[in-house]
Amino acid sequence: MRAVLYDAFGAPPRLVQLPDPTPEPHGVVIEVRATGVCRSDWHGWMGHDPDIRLPHVPGHELAGVIVAAGREVTRWRVGDRVTVPFVCGCGTCHECRTGNHQVCEAQFQPGFTHWGSFATFVSIHRADVNLVRLPDDLDFATAASLGCRFATSFRAVVDQGRTSAGEWVAVHGCGGVGLSAIQIACALGASVVAVDLSEERLALARALGAAATVDARAVPDVAAAVVALTGGGAHVSIDALGHPTTCANSIGNLRRRGRHVQVGLLLGDQATPAIPMARVIAWELELRGSHGMQAHRYDAMLAMIRTGSLAPARLVGRTITLDQSIEALVTMDRFEGSGVTVVTAF
Ligand SMILES: [Zn+2]
Ligand SMILES: [Zn+2]
Repeated sequence: MRAVLYDAFGAPPRLVQLPDPTPEPHGVVIEVRATGVCRSDWHGWMGHDPDIRLPHVPGHELAGVIVAAGREVTRWRVGDRVTVPFVCGCGTCHECRTGNHQVCEAQFQPGFTHWGSFATFVSIHRADVNLVRLPDDLDFATAASLGCRFATSFRAVVDQGRTSAGEWVAVHGCGGVGLSAIQIACALGASVVAVDLSEERLALARALGAAATVDARAVPDVAAAVVALTGGGAHVSIDALGHPTTCANSIGNLRRRGRHVQVGLLLGDQATPAIPMARVIAWELELRGSHGMQAHRYDAMLAMIRTGSLAPARLVGRTITLDQSIEALVTMDRFEGSGVTVVTAF
């Protein structure tokens, strides 16, 4: 198969020929039809993820068709159109048995713990637990864009943020995660304040339904600006970027008893941001992490897509080839652009 491979962190990835994978007894091999390019891939390539063993094939936002299934797989057949969450569960640990595969104690993460989907084929473990069937009318590029950022945002806004109609939701960072969160929060009947440094991304945020926007370069105090716009602070606030400043602004713009959800990764020398715990106690703020979404919660998200209240296709930016994915990956920190970049030609 053709695959994008890197031998050292930060060194240029190469397009290479590798042996085709064979399925684990409990797993499947998927022919990749679309795979998203994500900031997490860039973090992995930079060496920020301790799970990655070299040499490595990145890619975790995938959709495709099953071409081989192991003998223990009962729910899936060759030819099925599927996607996977970016955190796959083992199916047997305490967290998986209580339905929380997204925090499995023995996670399988394509593109991190194992080789990923910047390739013709990808091997996925524990298929019966982890695969999600695609509706026939959902195209592969849109499906691939669900796996990481959209699903993560769905869990952050719906399950972890417990957002309800009439509430104010602040979204810090309008990349793939943030724009997804805006669309999902608006679909729930909440009002959104979007914060970013780019007027282009803020315009997209407004087009997706944000009621107000804050250009973080144009105001002296982002948190105070959000508090003013929301008449006393957001009920729910999401750090969709992952930076000590956006984390602090997200906690700082909450009203009393507000809920902060941390989605953006804080890695390297940013891994331990300062948290104003005195405010957290005095105002009874909630701080929650959000880590992907388990396969069995996709049904709720796919139902909202089917009825048209969510339109993830609007977040797909450009489609590229596997050859072009190398350039897209290594420049991810500099040119995120607007919308999700998806590889659709292998
Ligand atoms: Zn598990
Ligand atoms: Zn991702």
